[in-house]
Amino acid sequence: MLPFRYDPGRLGSVDVEIAITHCGICHSDLHLISNDWGISQYPFIPGHEIVGTVTAVGSRVRALKTGTRVGLGWQSNSCGHCEWCTRGMENLCPNTEATCVHRNGGYADTVRANVRFVFPIPDVLPSENAAPLLCGGITVYNPMRIHGVNPSSRVGVVGIGGLGHLAIQFARAFGAQVTAFSTSADKEEEARALGANNFVNSRESKAMKEVAGSLDFLLNTANADQDWGAYIQTLRPTGTLCFVGVPPSPVSIQAFPLISGQRTITGSNIGPPKMLLEMLDIAARHGIQARTEAFPMAKANEAIDKVKKNKVRYRAVLAN
Ligand code: NAP
Ligand code: ZN
Repeated sequence: MLPFRYDPGRLGSVDVEIAITHCGICHSDLHLISNDWGISQYPFIPGHEIVGTVTAVGSRVRALKTGTRVGLGWQSNSCGHCEWCTRGMENLCPNTEATCVHRNGGYADTVRANVRFVFPIPDVLPSENAAPLLCGGITVYNPMRIHGVNPSSRVGVVGIGGLGHLAIQFARAFGAQVTAFSTSADKEEEARALGANNFVNSRESKAMKEVAGSLDFLLNTANADQDWGAYIQTLRPTGTLCFVGVPPSPVSIQAFPLISGQRTITGSNIGPPKMLLEMLDIAARHGIQARTEAFPMAKANEAIDKVKKNKVRYRAVLAN
């Protein structure tokens, strides 16, 4: 990344401008920087886990005032009138706009977005620890709510990175029993401190076999290809494997374990504004925060490099 300047033009009537104090580094930024998904248009500014202060509001904005501390995540706009927007599932709008896809995101001084996607941050959450909730937090919270995770649930989390370490905390807030799957044996102690009841080193096939048939809901947050067949085997009958992390290759599995145990494979995409507000409130009331490593904005390249090497515990956050 290199320094980049752009003219954002006139502020739209339903938009707000945010002076950025913090921006988390989500692995999706790395996918966009290297155009893994074939949708990047250069030059662009990555970053979509933003916390800052409102500095200007459009002429029709009533919901936010200048000076308010707010957050902005992956989504910056939606059409507002399609079936999915009117049903409160704006994250599924076919005309969704992502904060840093074909527009400029949060590794910056300022950013703009439609007011419907800008949320006040509860006072008890420090900005650095709240920023990763705006994408990582909602991405793991939404599928647990959709799939009804509750105190009787046995939840597995694959990959204990930015998303995964938040998933452990939210699953515990739902009262579930949590199993963490990690390729990093040195994460065991911290995973347990975050709330995991059980830790499985996913590189050990014996350890994987020991948890066969034990989970109701398994959330993959890892961005790598893995033995999905082995993960399907960890599900109980009627269990669900849900993808939020994006492995590079197609997911290939045998149909038989799906058929015999009536198991499901699904995916989930961030979450809608109403769920984001709920998630921030739950995080505030249950003490859920990202464990972060702060970097000055000017050291964004250094921070990205550390994320790439899976060395960050557990979310790198850039600060202005
Ligand atoms: P991250 O902080 O880099 O964490 C990813 C974790 O995956 C790592 O900490 C590591 O956990 C595990 N991992 C890495 N390499 C692996 C390998 N070779 N084999 C197995 N596991 C490996 O990334 P993140 O920000 O949490 O994002 C994770 C994924 O979610 C990315 O693909 C991102 O694009 C996607 N995402 C999706 C959505 C959505 O709406 N669906 C939203 C945000 C992000 P261990 O060390 O514990 O193994
Ligand atoms: Zn993200």
